[in-house]
Amino acid sequence: MNRLKSDEEIEILRENNLLVSQTLAEVARHIRPGVTTRELDRIAEEFILDHGAIPGFKGYGGFPATLCTSVNDQVVHGIPSEYELKEGDIISVDCGVIRNGFYGDSAYTFAVGEVDPEKEELMRVTRECLEKGVEQAVAGNRVGDIGHAVQQHAESHGFSVVRELVGHGLGKKLHEPPEVPNFGKRGRGPKLREGMVICIEPMINMGVKEVYQDRDGWTIHTADRKPSAHYEYAVAVRKNKADILTTFAYIEEVLKSKN
Ligand code: MG
Ligand code: MG
Repeated sequence: MNRLKSDEEIEILRENNLLVSQTLAEVARHIRPGVTTRELDRIAEEFILDHGAIPGFKGYGGFPATLCTSVNDQVVHGIPSEYELKEGDIISVDCGVIRNGFYGDSAYTFAVGEVDPEKEELMRVTRECLEKGVEQAVAGNRVGDIGHAVQQHAESHGFSVVRELVGHGLGKKLHEPPEVPNFGKRGRGPKLREGMVICIEPMINMGVKEVYQDRDGWTIHTADRKPSAHYEYAVAVRKNKADILTTFAYIEEVLKSKN
């Protein structure tokens, strides 16, 4: 069972997730055709260290970088490299930090320049899936209520939900119980209790739900090589409404100023 967090612990988690939000906004400033994913990783690492935190993913299970950068058919866990982003790509940037003994963990999918309408719709629907999931993250509901809401919304738009990778509890460890799948049945799974902190992170594919792992041992690709999108919030479960510890407001300010 997920240990419930005290209000003090939730405030530390909020600060850390706000730092992740700001890091993703800093990355957003630099996303453009021609930039390498390794350069984005360097920017994020420097930003996190400058703010008194430690990258949460670097070294986690042997992962070699600060960000997971997953482009187009890459679902999650892409390793930053010399790949240069190009016009029309979409890129999921997932970022974690550790500070004061607790983690932060959030992700956002960005368009590189102009992307085709299908990719735009995939991103929009995945973002909506996240919001639908968050609406269910209230005390007394069950984990299956979150998954059901996400799955229902994705599939109603003809998209599919990755089964192999799921959301999770967040705290002193990056991945704590319970698992938070993006699919499921209403009223099933562990009960959500006030003070639980969970990451909700829909990974939604344009085509089939099946995925495979790259030979690099990390990167997850869609089986049909069609695009995938991914957004992630950390939320504290509360009585009537989830308390969202992440914000995309910083990112969206940057995106607006780039247009
Ligand atoms: Mg996560
Ligand atoms: Mg994450």
